[in-house]
Amino acid sequence: MTHPKQVACPTCSTFTPWSPKNPFRPFCSERCKLIDLGEWASESHRIAGDKIDPNEPSEGDASK
Ligand SMILES: [Zn+2]
Repeated sequence: MTHPKQVACPTCSTFTPWSPKNPFRPFCSERCKLIDLGEWASESHRIAGDKIDPNEPSEGDASK
């Protein structure tokens, strides 16, 4: 049993060894990690942002 534990990359489902040599675990690569984080962020933004009114003044406008 010398095989390291394998985990499936959440982004591309590629099996990658869960080892200290992989700083991106559970992702197989930095690319997959960034993709996942990016999708999570955009998804979160879409939910939290509700419907953004383009006419709404941006925060920190001239009202101060
Ligand atoms: Zn991957």
